[in-house]
Amino acid sequence: MRLHVVDHPLVAHKLTVLRDERTDSPTFRRLADELVTLLAYEATRGVRVETCGIVTPVAPATGVHLSAPKPLVVPILRAGLGMLDGMTRLVPTAEVGFLGMIRDHQTLQASTYATRLPDDLSRRQVFLLDPMLATGGTLAAAMHFVFDRGADDVTAICLLAAPEGVAAVEAEFGPEAPVTIVVAAMDERLNELGYIVPGLGDAGDRLYGVV
Ligand code: URA
Repeated sequence: MRLHVVDHPLVAHKLTVLRDERTDSPTFRRLADELVTLLAYEATRGVRVETCGIVTPVAPATGVHLSAPKPLVVPILRAGLGMLDGMTRLVPTAEVGFLGMIRDHQTLQASTYATRLPDDLSRRQVFLLDPMLATGGTLAAAMHFVFDRGADDVTAICLLAAPEGVAAVEAEFGPEAPVTIVVAAMDERLNELGYIVPGLGDAGDRLYGVV
């Protein structure tokens, strides 16, 4: 497993405003979107391409285009939806699947309530979008889901992670697994309610309001 914490002043600046409790939902949504595009640039560093020939107005040239099958982007509902546009802006030809997962507030266990994914993910690079890597339960369940359908390479893009969550994912899949986590910051810890500290609160509520 590979962990990449994106160390960039613009990322840190946007994240600071995102964390601030005074930031309203419209601003939060815009910043989350901008941050994802920056993280996606790092997260797609290993995206598979193949060479192709083109002709420029001046001369024939060799370039690259994304390999088939195209990467699959999977936002984990609800909060991952706030990351989708930022990702597809960078990789517009990626296909998009959906995974609805909810965390029980008492047990902190994740369960799946909706899926819309291709049955066969063999040879696919999958990009999971989930803003908060807290206990790691939701992300690990989502990774099992796509590996079970044949995905051979999974990258999770998260805004924030807790060390406990990263350790849980690594313990679940092992250090050699084809798993990458790209995150804007690694926070201190989880609190007794399973929230990331200092974190940014409930990402879904801050994106979409409390339901
Ligand atoms: N999910 C959130 O939205 N926030 C946290 O801090 C942890 C999990």
